[in-house]
Parts: sequence; structure tokens; C-alpha cells
Amino acid sequence: MKQRRLPVELPEGYVEFYKKLESWQNEQEISLKKQYTFEEYDILSLLAASNKSLLRIKDLQIKAEDYRNIFQKLCKLVAELRPETADTMQKIAENIDEIDFAELNRKIIRDDEAYFTSLADTMDVSAELLLFTADHSLRPFLRLYAAPYQKALLADEFQSWDFPTICPVCGAKPHVSRLRSPDGRRFMFCDRCFSEWEARYLACVHCGNNEPGTVKYINIENDEAYQIYTCEKCKGYLKTYDERQSGRNTDLFITNIETIYLDMLAQEKGYSTHDMD
Ligand SMILES: [Zn+2]
Ligand SMILES: [Zn+2]
Repeated sequence: MKQRRLPVELPEGYVEFYKKLESWQNEQEISLKKQYTFEEYDILSLLAASNKSLLRIKDLQIKAEDYRNIFQKLCKLVAELRPETADTMQKIAENIDEIDFAELNRKIIRDDEAYFTSLADTMDVSAELLLFTADHSLRPFLRLYAAPYQKALLADEFQSWDFPTICPVCGAKPHVSRLRSPDGRRFMFCDRCFSEWEARYLACVHCGNNEPGTVKYINIENDEAYQIYTCEKCKGYLKTYDERQSGRNTDLFITNIETIYLDMLAQEKGYSTHDMD
């Protein structure tokens, strides 16, 4: 694979860290698969009827002790891979009894920042690292839960979700999309549960604007597959991987991490993700 030169320096080991994290999450998912069978719903009719992500309507049924166990393992892994976090990770592990794991998954899914700020305060640790650990140790469960819905969400006739910037399964905000080869249709990608869903290619995902000439794309020289779509109406942007350029699929989880420089470029030019609305 051709080595892409980054116009900016990412922190040392940054991409490597996320690659290891993703493999670790895959392993956890495989082992959970042996223990869990989630109830499956008719997602398309639920989405159409409620206009809400599936996990905002149906709770994620997981055992608190399983979540706690994976959370503990992740604390160790992060401390190993990023030694500068070791002290905080140890403190989180020591104060783990402060965390109610039966409740935690709902707090992640509902994006309850206030809850994490206050919990971090009680535990006297960084809210950012606490949230990171809670979120990333839930992802193996979410990916296992979301996988069976992928087929329905990718079906051509799926038209019942009008919120390109909200994951229809877990409610997270996507950070990247891909243009499918060979037809160029756009799919949004959720890096939390790995769901993909279609968004209209020509319209801005933030405001729906599709006036000719106001939705454009920028790419870096010699890097045709990696693009940023920008909207002049709302000043929003969206990172995009164009599979037609390379003719292959990409790991969008890693693509999102590797293309932090595209976010910087877009933000320098005055565009934002509106925190994905
Ligand atoms: Zn999701
Ligand atoms: Zn827009």
C-alpha cells in the first residue's frame, strides 16, 4: 500500500494506537458473540414510526458484569499502550466501584456529558479519559448488536431515515462517509457501532442544501480518494473516502483517524461539522 504523506504531524503512535484498539475490540466482540443473542427488531418500521435511533427506543440488554469486565481490560490496555495515561487508568480501576455498570451503557448511548463530568469529579479523574474508556469498552457490544441490521440499512429501498448525521442504530454522530464503488452512492459510517446508512450524494448532510455550485469538494494533491465535502450555505463539511478512486473498500474507523489532517484543513478554511448537528 502506498504510504500517504501527512501534511501535519499526528502525535507519535496515534494511528497505531487506534489500530490496536480496533483489533482488541474485534477480539472482544468475537468472544461476546458466543454468549449473546440479542433480540432482533424490524428496524425499518421502528425507525419510520419513531424517527429515533433504535437504541433510543429499545435498551441494550447486556450484563453489567460483562461490561465491567471489558472496561477493566481496556483500562489495562490503554495504560500499556499509552503510558502517559497509566496513572489515571490505575485510579479509574481503583475507583471502579463508583461506576454503576447497569446504568452506564444508557449514559453513553444518550450522550450524557453531565453524568460523566460529575462521575469523573467523584472519582477524581479526567472526564475525557473516563468517557473514552466507557465508550470504547461498550463498542464491542454495540457492534455485535448492530451487525444484523446492516443488510436492511443498506437495502436500496431503505428511505425511512432522514437524519444523515445520526446513526440509526446507536444514535452516535458519524465522522466520515464513503462513496461506494462503482455507483458513487454515499454511505455514512458510525465508528461506534460500525453501522452504515445511505445519505444523498449531492446534498449537504448538515442542512440538506443541494443548490448547484454550493456543495463542493476539496482533496489533497495526490490523494484523490480522501475528500472533504463542504457546504457554502451552512459552512459544514464532511470527510469522505471515495472508493471509486482506489477500487477497494477501506477500514473507515482507521480512515477517520488517519485523516485528522483533513479536519484541520477544513476547520482552517472556516468549515465545521457543527459537532455533526
Ligand atoms: Zn452507531
Ligand atoms: Zn449545509
